[in-house]
Amino acid sequence: MTADARMVRLIMELRREGIDDTRVLSALERVPRDTFVPGPFQEQAYDNIALPIGQGQTISQPFVVAFMTQELEVGDRMKVLEIGTGSGYQTAVLAHLCRRVYTVERYRTLLRLAEQQFTKLRLHNITTRFGDGNDGWPEQAPFERIIVTAAAPEIPMSLAEQLDIGGKMIVPVGASSMGQEIIRLTRTEEGFESESLLPVRFVPLVKGVARET
Ligand code: SAH
Repeated sequence: MTADARMVRLIMELRREGIDDTRVLSALERVPRDTFVPGPFQEQAYDNIALPIGQGQTISQPFVVAFMTQELEVGDRMKVLEIGTGSGYQTAVLAHLCRRVYTVERYRTLLRLAEQQFTKLRLHNITTRFGDGNDGWPEQAPFERIIVTAAAPEIPMSLAEQLDIGGKMIVPVGASSMGQEIIRLTRTEEGFESESLLPVRFVPLVKGVARET
């Protein structure tokens, strides 16, 4: 089967699983996932599964990327902060839906590789940073949307504070051994509202940057 045919099959599967936002589906369709998947896993690039990307990290399952992106409700004029660049796949999907994505990763090696893919795919509205995502990106705050692609032990309020009024954050929360839940936090004039959306399993959001390997 060609990459195109595999992509069509994947998009159909995502629709069946309840992804119905056509902007999100077409953004996924425009990002070749095989670009972000390491050589040994190319055959599985369009399977609806998470795959290893090195440093003990994973590229998220397409359904989870689609779901989180859909629930983030991104508008095309928005400024979005992503914590956990990883392969850069989720970043690339977001880049098609908003004005600019700011993305932070604690592994320099993963970040460099992701940057190469952004250049290759001519995605020019992505700004990257090597650092601890727990700090967010104070110089660029406030953000209209924040997405965290690693599991936080609890709702990261340091990031929530970088949300604009009316802004939303999607974050998997919970102890890694027990699985986590995707939470959507909305900043209101009065404070924050949270909704629990979906049980998931993510690699943990770690404190500090990684030592180079
Ligand atoms: N969105 C990614 C998912 C990668 S997995 C993709 O589609 O490929 C989660 C990523 O979060 C990993 O790369 C991990 O190194 C990173 N991460 C974990 N804790 C972090 C932190 N405190 N700051 C920045 N990145 C972090």
